[in-house]
Amino acid sequence: MNVSLPGTLCLHCGLCCDGTLFRDVELQPGDDAEKLRALGLPLRSRRGEEANSLKFSQPCSALCSDLKCRAYADRPTRCREFECALFKSVAVGKVEVPAALKTIRQTRQMAEKVRRLLRELGDASELVSLARRFKRVKRKFDTGELPEGLDAETAYDRFAELSLAVHELDMRLRTKFHPDPSDV
Ligand code: SF4
Repeated sequence: MNVSLPGTLCLHCGLCCDGTLFRDVELQPGDDAEKLRALGLPLRSRRGEEANSLKFSQPCSALCSDLKCRAYADRPTRCREFECALFKSVAVGKVEVPAALKTIRQTRQMAEKVRRLLRELGDASELVSLARRFKRVKRKFDTGELPEGLDAETAYDRFAELSLAVHELDMRLRTKFHPDPSDV
C-alpha cells in the first residue's frame, strides 16, 4: 500500500467512519476489547449472539472533527484492513489523486444533503448512521406520522427529496466506494 494515501485521501474523507458507508464495526479475534473500551468505543454485544461477539456503531466516536482517528494506533482489525474501492483504484494508478479528491468532495456533499434533509424532517440524531436514520424516518412516513412543524405537502415534498438524495448517495457509494455491497 502507498503509505501516503491514507493522509492524502482519508483525511479528506472519513466516509467509512462517519456513518455514511457503514452502520457498525464488528470486532475480530485478536482485537483488544478492553483497550478499545478504554479509548471510548462503546462496544456492545451483537443481538442474539454470544456475549464475546462485540461491535460498535458508526459514526465512530473516535473520529475527530479533522477526520483523524483518535484510536488509530489501536484501531480494530476491520478498520485496519479496510480500503475502499476508490482507495484501491488510486493505489494501483487507475484513478489520479485529484479525481479521487473530487469524488470524495462530491460524495461528502451528497451525504451532507441527506443529513440536512433528515434534520428538516425532524431527525437530528447525528450519532446514528445515515442508513438507520433514513429507515427510521421512512417508517414514520409509512405509518402516517408526519414531522412536527411541517404541513403535509411540505413534509411529503421533503421526504421525496430525501428519498432521491439517499438513492443517489447509495448509488455513488456502491459504484465508487464499496468493494462489496454485501459489506453494508
Ligand atoms: S472511504 Fe476510502 S478514501 Fe474514504 S476514509 Fe475510508 S478508506 Fe479512505
